[in-house]
Amino acid sequence: MKANRLPVEETLDPLDWESTRAAAYRMVDESIDRLAGLRGQPVWQPMPDQVRAFFKQPAPRQPAPLDEIYDELKRNLLPHSMGNIHPRFWAWYMGAGNFTGALAEFLGAIDGSNLGGGDTGAKALELQAVDWLKELLGFPETASGTMTSGGSIANLLCLNVARNAMAGNDVRAEGITSLPQPLRFYASDQAHSCGQKALEILGLGARALHIVPSNAGLAMDIGALEVAISGDRAKGFKPVCVIATAGTTNTGSIDDIEAIERICRRENIWFHVDGCIGALLKLSANHAQLVKGIERADSLALDPHKLMQAPFNTSCALIRNRELHRATFTLHHAYLEEKPRGIGSGEFLADYSLELTRSPMALKVWMMLKQHGSEKFGRLIDQNIAQARYLAGLVRAEPKLELMLEPAINIVCFRHRSPSVDEEATKSLNTEIMLRLQEQGIAAPSDTTIHGKHCLRAAIANHRTKTGDLDLLVEAVLKLGAEILGG
Ligand SMILES: *Cc1c(COP(=O)(O)O)cnc(C)c1O
Repeated sequence: MKANRLPVEETLDPLDWESTRAAAYRMVDESIDRLAGLRGQPVWQPMPDQVRAFFKQPAPRQPAPLDEIYDELKRNLLPHSMGNIHPRFWAWYMGAGNFTGALAEFLGAIDGSNLGGGDTGAKALELQAVDWLKELLGFPETASGTMTSGGSIANLLCLNVARNAMAGNDVRAEGITSLPQPLRFYASDQAHSCGQKALEILGLGARALHIVPSNAGLAMDIGALEVAISGDRAKGFKPVCVIATAGTTNTGSIDDIEAIERICRRENIWFHVDGCIGALLKLSANHAQLVKGIERADSLALDPHKLMQAPFNTSCALIRNRELHRATFTLHHAYLEEKPRGIGSGEFLADYSLELTRSPMALKVWMMLKQHGSEKFGRLIDQNIAQARYLAGLVRAEPKLELMLEPAINIVCFRHRSPSVDEEATKSLNTEIMLRLQEQGIAAPSDTTIHGKHCLRAAIANHRTKTGDLDLLVEAVLKLGAEILGG
């Protein structure tokens, strides 16, 4: 019997590629205009009610022209981005993105390859980009690595390998209920929250993380770490991993990497480094020594979407021992049998990650490194650190302002002094200054608390910032401070 062909066959491709081309060109042209004119725009602006209402509209059942959709986005989405692409955004710790990275994102989506595996250019390129990162960070060639969606996931992947390697049982088969001894991980009180979340997900629980106090400079107190480890051994716990932070989120402080490594080797403990902020300091000839020793870590998490300015999300986990890395994640069911030839041949990248289907994130890093060379990124990091020192200098010179501590790298913590000695009054003054800076679109610092004192925090991880932007910040803080205290 002859099969009947379908009378109508639809596709998502346009009937008319030419109008699509014109719409796409407009998006590219206007994106370039937008980036070129950023400094004159507000950093951020509050969302009016009609925009909020736009995002409540029901699901469309019928088509609309691409051009019109883009116009809607121009009215509702584009004016309300977070602001981290702006030269005066220094909140939390983000990168500013860049146009080449955006093009890479586009080209990767058009290429469409699935980075779970396959004998593809996209996979070869990812392996090369990971090799480049290993090389630039001083990791051995024999190490393995994977791109992943964020620093939190990079840390999770690393700690998953650490747990499995150190558990003392076949944890993949037996699970954590059959662990011979309860495991203990160590991180300072300044470590990122993703470490604790990882241990929760890994079934070990938050209490498996022994929080080690930090010293006056907000780096891990090494003596306290040794006490913690020996105390836990005495209690019957098994110390398995120290999470050293190379660049804490609060202040950029850097744990004593080499001292922690010595302790890990002596105690036979996995040496993990959360380098989401600091690992890329290795690209800078002037500042690489600040993170000396991270290249000897058993595992390292890093975030090219922070200091390297790749668009989100672009992160990477490096594992020194490739076999342990693979043994943690490899699993092939019938539909993913390894083949000697063809599209599915070669190593599966999913053997090194929890993620299977994913985009070619490495393409961003690859194109950016090709275009600019690694030394340019090192200079941009130096520039941000010099800008942080400049801002600290402005703060020090101004009697109305207080510098909380000398910036370790590119994070400046400071505050407006308050006429009242009351800590709460100072906090509300500085919070109000911060919120007005954000709401008026002037600049975007965030805030934190250091040694019990609330303060503003400018994390200058932004290739668009110029020192003039920092002058403007200080002027605006003083003006708003006077306004609030006067009114
Ligand atoms: C940002 C950060 C993370 C989390 O990384 P994401 O990419 O935001 O998931 C982890 N550790 C440190 C030290 C960080 O600064």
